[in-house]
Amino acid sequence: MNSCIIVWFRNDLRVHDHLPLLRASSRGLPVLGLYVFDQAHYKTLSYGFPKTGKHRAQFIRESVEDLRQNLNRLGAPLLVRHGSPEEVFTSISERFHIQEVFLHEEIGSEELTVEGKVRDRLPHTTFTIDHGHNLYPPEDLPFTTRELPDTFSQFRKVLDKNGVPGLTEISIPSSVRGLSLPRDFPEGKLPTLQELGLKELERPPRYPGGSSKAKERLLHYIFKADRLKVYKETRNGMLKEDDSSKFSPYLANGCLSPKVVLDQIRTYEKKYGKNESTYMLYFELLWRDYFHLVHRKYRDRIFYPAGLKGNRIPWHDDQEHLRRWMDGMTGYPLVDAAMRELKQTGFMSNRARQNVASFFTKNLGLDWRIGAAWFESQLVDYDVSSNYGNWLYIAGVGNDAVPFRAFNVEKQAHDYDPDGAYLRYWLPELKELPAPWIHQPREMGMLEQQQYGINLGEDYPLPMVDLYESMKNRKQEYEQAQKNSR
Ligand SMILES: Cc1cc2nc3c(=O)[nH]c(=O)nc-3n(C[C@H](O)[C@H](O)[C@H](O)COP(=O)(O)OP(=O)(O)OC[C@H]3O[C@@H](n4cnc5c(N)ncnc54)[C@H](O)[C@@H]3O)c2cc1C
Repeated sequence: MNSCIIVWFRNDLRVHDHLPLLRASSRGLPVLGLYVFDQAHYKTLSYGFPKTGKHRAQFIRESVEDLRQNLNRLGAPLLVRHGSPEEVFTSISERFHIQEVFLHEEIGSEELTVEGKVRDRLPHTTFTIDHGHNLYPPEDLPFTTRELPDTFSQFRKVLDKNGVPGLTEISIPSSVRGLSLPRDFPEGKLPTLQELGLKELERPPRYPGGSSKAKERLLHYIFKADRLKVYKETRNGMLKEDDSSKFSPYLANGCLSPKVVLDQIRTYEKKYGKNESTYMLYFELLWRDYFHLVHRKYRDRIFYPAGLKGNRIPWHDDQEHLRRWMDGMTGYPLVDAAMRELKQTGFMSNRARQNVASFFTKNLGLDWRIGAAWFESQLVDYDVSSNYGNWLYIAGVGNDAVPFRAFNVEKQAHDYDPDGAYLRYWLPELKELPAPWIHQPREMGMLEQQQYGINLGEDYPLPMVDLYESMKNRKQEYEQAQKNSR
């Protein structure tokens, strides 16, 4: 039986800055890349929707295809299978002697459980795990995971004071000695969306997947369109593609290493000088690292209803409310535009995410974990630590010092979309409404409705809850929960 080394790809769909691949290629044994479409990732959740929706699945498919091309170019095959990873490893071990497995570290409990099952099937194989998802490996930070500061600003201050660790070198192996696969053991086709139990996309994906596309986006945003220069001013925009970097789908799926982004920021600074925007983009990458560290510190507590603080806030269950939120039919234009954008494209800006998550928890009072699960299903940039971490904070069960912070979704629409262009884009039934009606259609009387040819309650829903009343009630529930937990 021929011996081989496996590089197991998961949320690291790239060949650059990939230490496991680099290590594997220096071992002298034939290398086999492996990606498994884990059937557990495509199951239907108890909430009635798939754990991975079609937009994210398509992004992953394209990224795996791109990875295969890049790996093939270096000389190694990428085996693609659909099933459970432990079964896939067993089937490989029946054909080849798997001497070593190289992979990047994941910190989610689901991933660790799967890893454990694979190891059980291969008791004589050595597993080498490297850290690779963040700017700075945890062991290079000036504190242990247990000592991680409980707020982001403390975390940033410690880094500013102690100096950030140096970045490790970014490299790609020049070639990889690939394993030759026998005819009856082919590389394998990628499963279609249908085979993954999903519907086809109605239109081409908004963000094409893959490391090659990630590099195009990086160069476009920073250099060609020169948008890094104005990032600080535009990053809260909700409509235009270049308002923010849109690096997140590529970072979340590992098509792009955050170190490469930082390297390009530094290159830009050397050429054109530092400014507040160049710092701000770096600052956002630090947020990403921070949520990963919070996850590492608190482990499964990031999924608990009472979150990191153990604050027993009552979470309500209302299927009708949940459905209207998911479908963008709440009667609040900012929430509806953003939720329809998410459902139709798998993306939503950070400003919009904060608003819809706040509305979900602070107006509707629904269980934040269901909102987070819907994001997990839909977002092309889903990342377990960033998603559940951000939800925890918005729900008020993170380490945040402010217990009840709610976004006024109407005021936010006025402030961040003053002419209503974003709302009009996603809500065709409101497209004739000028500002300020577009921000508050509920305020329109019969005359205005007639003037603009809209019938509220029929063409567009009336608000499902009173904005101020619901917020007031919810605040009381939060305060009560806080008193009870003292
Ligand atoms: C409720 C909620 C859920 C979220 N879920 C996710 C998620 O699953 N995956 C994800 O990558 N981001 C998530 N975010 C963070 C943020 O909304 C997205 O990273 C951002 O909108 C992506 O767009 P961009 O790449 O243009 O961001 P930019 O503004 O250009 O930021 C650059 C990069 O910094 C990182 N970043 C920026 N803001 C944050 C943040 N608040 N937390 C963590 N990283 C950040 C991202 O990697 C992003 O690509 C969530 C935010 C909220 C409020």
